[in-house]
Amino acid sequence: HCPTGALRERDDTQKAYAALGDPDRVTIVQIAPAVRAAWGEAFGMPTGKATVGQLVSVLRKLGADYVFDTTFSADLTIMEEGTELLQRLQAGDLDNQPMFTSCCPGWVRFLKSQFPEMTGRLSTAKSPQQMFGAVGKTWLAHNLGVDADKIYSISIMPCIAKKAERELPSMDSAGHGSDVDLVITTRELARMARAEHLDVENIAESAFDSPLGDGTGAGVIFGATGGVMEAALRSAYFLTTGENPSPDAFREVRDDGTISPLPWREATFELAGRTVRCAVASGLGNARQLLHSLQRREVHYEFVEIMACPGGCAGGGGQPVDGTDREKAADRGKVLFRLDQNAPLRFSHENPAVQALYREYLDEPCSHRAEELLHCDHFAWQMDAAR
Ligand code: SF4
Repeated sequence: HCPTGALRERDDTQKAYAALGDPDRVTIVQIAPAVRAAWGEAFGMPTGKATVGQLVSVLRKLGADYVFDTTFSADLTIMEEGTELLQRLQAGDLDNQPMFTSCCPGWVRFLKSQFPEMTGRLSTAKSPQQMFGAVGKTWLAHNLGVDADKIYSISIMPCIAKKAERELPSMDSAGHGSDVDLVITTRELARMARAEHLDVENIAESAFDSPLGDGTGAGVIFGATGGVMEAALRSAYFLTTGENPSPDAFREVRDDGTISPLPWREATFELAGRTVRCAVASGLGNARQLLHSLQRREVHYEFVEIMACPGGCAGGGGQPVDGTDREKAADRGKVLFRLDQNAPLRFSHENPAVQALYREYLDEPCSHRAEELLHCDHFAWQMDAAR
């Protein structure tokens, strides 16, 4: 179920078939980090057994022209959000209230409808899905030599709320219609593979296309609770000191299974010459308790990560369900952290494709062009609390 309780599942597979089979369209597909940990479960495989390389092959068999990795734009989100965090810290904007992560549309909707007075505390950075869409119809189209109006951008997401996110105001910043044209959940993708009688268990692996197929371990852990914050802190540390921290320096914000005395986890780090207090919550009931504590000034944090689904996107509402309601988010999260541990690059700022994007097109994080394409005005639309 959608964790926001607001959205009914809808099936968009027919739209996907139509786009993938249309010779006049160039289909670019992105695969979200959390999908790779869970998609094989839909075919009876153990969590994490099916690889993302096999999933790339499935998408090629289904007719995708290009298959890319949302991990690329998760790294890009880190560059933008980490820079924004430092700017707001240095401007004194976080002295009394925190900056909230903004990559989870279920959480953004919840905050704007239930606590609208805190809307300004959200990071303005768009989610990785939307950053991918904006870059796909600008820099990538230019790189591929493709007319951006012919590009049809499809996301494979663990999330039902992402279907609504792509339709929000300001999610068309590339100037070629919606930046993301269609969102397919992990479950919908599994239905498509099954309908095509693909032998997914034995399908050979295939590599992502370039350049938006490059991602780091920091981008992969976006799919687990605490991962967005950990990835952002790794790069924020580099941006302030010019040196990398240990990749695991901020692992305290991960959910390692220990019981927290609070409905959220908290940790304190030194950053930019000051103490930065961090909090991480997943699940909207926990988020509500954290927001009430912030409002009552019982706690104070500079940086807060909230994901609507328990365990983060790994436990997303579009992921496979096994009929026993067994909670798999923690297992999937472990798969993502293991992928990070084994990744050749573990810092978003070291992603060569992200570096090329800034060098060739965006200039630097939070530049004028980056603001236009990759950030949004949360006051541009309102959420009705009753919806
Ligand atoms: Fe979607 Fe992830 Fe948020 Fe769940 S936690 S609503 S899957 S973005």
